[in-house]
Amino acid sequence: MADKLTRRDLLQNAATLGSIAVFGAVACSKSTPAALVCTDTSSLAPADVAIRTSLAYVDTSTEPGKTCTTCQQFIAPAAAGACGTCKVVKGPINPGGYCKSFVPKTT
Ligand code: SF4
Repeated sequence: MADKLTRRDLLQNAATLGSIAVFGAVACSKSTPAALVCTDTSSLAPADVAIRTSLAYVDTSTEPGKTCTTCQQFIAPAAAGACGTCKVVKGPINPGGYCKSFVPKTT
């Protein structure tokens, strides 16, 4: 009978499963980068926080195609992956954020 499992078959299957388990463990151990958070307003004056709130700044844009990186007011961070700043809204600004003062870049 060709369907009979041999000791060699069992060992080969065990080795294959072990390889898959090791690969899976390595793949899962690579953590995805944490999402950039630019919501710390603890250093801002209450008036600046109020402006930020009144303009409904959000760290993640809810408007398709409109993010701080595509806004004329955005000042990009010195290094990628960091919070930028804004000419209108004080405090850290997420490149993927949005507020009511959005003005699309012309170039
Ligand atoms: S004005 Fe609003 S949308 Fe434009 S960069 Fe500043 S916070 Fe972002």
